[in-house]
Amino acid sequence: MPPKLTDLEIYEFAQNVLSRITEKLSETYYKNLNGSLTLGWSEEPQFNAWAESHTIPGQAPNHKIILNYELVRQLYRDAEGFCAYVQTEPVLNLIKNAFKNHPHDCLPRCFTLESCIKNMFLSALTWVYYHELGHLMQEHGMVRNNVVGSATKNTIGEIDSHAKIPLTGRAALISHATELAADFEATTLCVFSSALHFLKESSDLCDAEVFTGNIYLLTCSLACIFYRFNGGTAGAMGTPITGSHPSAIYRIEIIAPHIYELADRLLKENGFEMTNGRLISVVKQAADLGSLYYNYSITSASEKTIDLFIKGFTNRPEFKPYSREIVNIWDEIYPTIVASRRFGIDAGLMQLTDAFRQFSFNE
Ligand SMILES: [Zn+2]
Repeated sequence: MPPKLTDLEIYEFAQNVLSRITEKLSETYYKNLNGSLTLGWSEEPQFNAWAESHTIPGQAPNHKIILNYELVRQLYRDAEGFCAYVQTEPVLNLIKNAFKNHPHDCLPRCFTLESCIKNMFLSALTWVYYHELGHLMQEHGMVRNNVVGSATKNTIGEIDSHAKIPLTGRAALISHATELAADFEATTLCVFSSALHFLKESSDLCDAEVFTGNIYLLTCSLACIFYRFNGGTAGAMGTPITGSHPSAIYRIEIIAPHIYELADRLLKENGFEMTNGRLISVVKQAADLGSLYYNYSITSASEKTIDLFIKGFTNRPEFKPYSREIVNIWDEIYPTIVASRRFGIDAGLMQLTDAFRQFSFNE
């Protein structure tokens, strides 16, 4: 096994990485807008992160991202735990049997075990940071509070531990839709960063493998993060929508196609050919193993394996009523979101495709 990092070493590593990203974002975007982005840390012993906007509508963005040290610690320990878990005999057999049409290595061969843990952790850490940035880029606090013309501190937390009564009605709808929107921003930024890092520099075929390996580890980590943010369970999928966050399974199902479509596009744009079918199966195996690890290693699962695994929306008729509510509210708030978004990659703006709309509304 690779050397185990102490908790303090994990915190220091995370602080260095995220401070550099904050500086780069400040320099690239916020400086030109006369705005500011800062990073903060909290010692609250809970798996949580949040975004604070102090922006006055119509003026420069004033944003802050705060992560709990405990979140960072658990992300690292999950990366260690996952990498050990997928090398166990039962999981290796499962890969051979359940994924028999397209079995992929349990961990990408292009990385050492130590690099797998480090890359999975880095993917998870930057994804959480970018998810909070996604809330801020689209000023979700203002959309949620419908604040007009005043300076109000808007805070969006990933675990709504202070809410005595779960959100209902319009507030719940907006909260769920903007969580999915922040997932899109975060995932897009992570996939683009990975392509910039691994694909831009040369046309070596190995780079496509390393990029794909990194996408695999990112997807594994997402499944773990979604369950952790939902307090360890998949979460309810019922309507009318209540609470603040979508279910873990729904978040995985909606983000997986975005990952493989974006990865495929970036590979092609950089001169690499890889069949979309291979990427689909890579992403599916990664998401399924992430869910399996979380549900069967960290907690004792209450869902059947088959329901935890990606099936594709067309095979999830139970998602239709929920999806209809998401489409309706997203279409309503979309113009406000677009008007608030002053920087970002086009692909980061959540698009609910015609196919998704047809699935949602056709009985
Ligand atoms: Zn969020």
